[in-house]
Amino acid sequence: MRKREKSELSVAGVHLERALREPGCPICRRIRETEERWIWTVLYELTGDPEIHARFAASLGLCREHAALMAQVVETRELLTPTGVARLYETVVSHALEVSADLTGRRKTVPKEECPLCAVAKDAEDRQSWFFSRLLGEPAFWELYESSDGLCLPHLLAVWAQAPAKARPALLADFRRRLAHLLHGLREFQRKERFDVHEPPTPEELASWKEALWRLAGMAYPEPLIKRD
Ligand SMILES: [Zn+2]
Ligand SMILES: [Zn+2]
Repeated sequence: MRKREKSELSVAGVHLERALREPGCPICRRIRETEERWIWTVLYELTGDPEIHARFAASLGLCREHAALMAQVVETRELLTPTGVARLYETVVSHALEVSADLTGRRKTVPKEECPLCAVAKDAEDRQSWFFSRLLGEPAFWELYESSDGLCLPHLLAVWAQAPAKARPALLADFRRRLAHLLHGLREFQRKERFDVHEPPTPEELASWKEALWRLAGMAYPEPLIKRD
């Protein structure tokens, strides 16, 4: 490992360890933090930047998920004014007006590039999975991971693909243990909810359906993670 990679890894390790102490998948959390930071930077510093305007025009704005996140960030943070969004989308909307003029009976779609924030998120996912796979070999990191909520399936697979061969058996065994435990919780929750069973579900069993949703698909967050005002 080169020196620069080593120092990047130790910085990434600090953030991943922090994320492991929070609820849910730590890689989902790190990606989401990156997305929010990107929105802050764009709205704070880049609403006059011709390059960012060109990117937004080419993709016809953000995808649905990221557009919703931008709205969430702006609406919950007083420091960000919605006029920044208006400035960017003035370009997007006028571009949409232009390209939609080409729609005819034969041409049923308009050219559109990938959402710029999807590209940022994909890059963050690759980087975080790589860092995570390198950190697995550190006993303290592994211990923290074992006692955390663990990874979602998409990120388990992303880490798995990059993990050193000798880290894989423990990683897989740990994940399968979590799934087996979750399955038990889902069954117990249903059994105890039956009218003829007078045994209350445990808090973990009560939350099992929610865990199943994020464990298989990844985390969704009801509000911005980064608090800046
Ligand atoms: Zn995840
Ligand atoms: Zn997107």
